[in-house]
Amino acid sequence: MTQTVFTGNFTQQEPIPEAAIDAAVAVMRSGRLHRYNTAPGDDGEVAKLEQEFADAVGAKYCLAVASGGYAMGAALRAVGVGPGDKVLTNGFTLAPVPGAIAAVNAVPVFVEVTESLTIDLEDLSLKAKTSGSKVLLLSHMRGHLCDMDRLMEICNAASIQVIEDCAHTMGGAWRGVASGRHGLMGCYSTQTYKHINSGEGGLLVTDDAEMMAKTIMLSGSYMLFERHKAAPPPEVFADVKYVTPNVSGRMDNLRAAILRPQLADLPAQVARWNVLYRAVEDGLRNTPGLQVIERPPEESIVGSSIQVLLPGIAPAAIEAVVAGCKARGVELKWFGAPEPAAFTSRYDSWRYAPAQSLPKTDRILAGLLDMRLPLTFSVADAGIIAEIIRDEVLAVHVPV
Ligand SMILES: *Cc1c(COP(=O)(O)O)cnc(C)c1O
Repeated sequence: MTQTVFTGNFTQQEPIPEAAIDAAVAVMRSGRLHRYNTAPGDDGEVAKLEQEFADAVGAKYCLAVASGGYAMGAALRAVGVGPGDKVLTNGFTLAPVPGAIAAVNAVPVFVEVTESLTIDLEDLSLKAKTSGSKVLLLSHMRGHLCDMDRLMEICNAASIQVIEDCAHTMGGAWRGVASGRHGLMGCYSTQTYKHINSGEGGLLVTDDAEMMAKTIMLSGSYMLFERHKAAPPPEVFADVKYVTPNVSGRMDNLRAAILRPQLADLPAQVARWNVLYRAVEDGLRNTPGLQVIERPPEESIVGSSIQVLLPGIAPAAIEAVVAGCKARGVELKWFGAPEPAAFTSRYDSWRYAPAQSLPKTDRILAGLLDMRLPLTFSVADAGIIAEIIRDEVLAVHVPV
């Protein structure tokens, strides 16, 4: 019997749109790449991107920076997190999140994950009261949004400030409110594997004038903050400008130029991602031994990656599924492997943080498989991928 094999490439993104390439060439011809090196009468690409992104998510203010990790670090500094402070965060996330906490010499306190792959609100409730932490760096890991209304109730009741890591949820929403707009600040990434692509880059939004003034100063605005558009008025900077260090991390006009056309296309791209996502999900549903992650109706998803659980399948059998899929061209990442590989590190791999015990997270990650869905895949590809995964899971599944 010949087996279906998939030949697509899981790390191949779409090309940068022609309009974005033209805009980039125009910036290069002008020689004005630094965001504050603007011609008279021109706001510059970065300031325009900030205004457009603020409008897209319904925020008062926006700052474009060098990376998503930089945005999180600036947000933590702006809320006043300092050396030795504890910061609540997800036990299941990617390395830049605890890294941003470590970068300000603060201490991550990890919160358990649920089978929906969202932060465990019971564990959060407990740790909000007992950890001594005043800030939650909430990661919407792999695009899964928790009950944001409930989360904000818990955090408000405990006077905990919420900073949202929306690296995987740009374009997503909870009950119609854009991801990044529930907490005090929202941080996004424009790195190649996220939803708009400038190689590296980040965005930070807030409605809080003082927080925005601080992060603008942090990013390295010198005294040029009046050149910003999606920013508070100069009087807000009156004190901030003397007491906020310059920790350079600006975005440049070249990156902003290629992001603006992509931002305009984002709603259409999200719709395409979700068609692929639902095609894989439908193909995997009702596979014995495999659990799809049900998405709540309040959540507007961006299906740029998909996760499934293989609860109760032994580690060696999961390894066989991953190897079997790989041999047939389907790249799955397993979060339960003893050693971190590629982007699959987890809380117990981050040994700069104090050792913590998260038994529920251990149990869930032991069966968690993850797969990217680049927009270079077709709906037919999605069907083939699902068929291959289904076959390989059935091959190891022992009915109970
Ligand atoms: C990519 C990513 C970030 C930000 O990453 P940068 O590479 O610094 O832009 C933050 N959180 C998560 C979960 C990510 O995957």
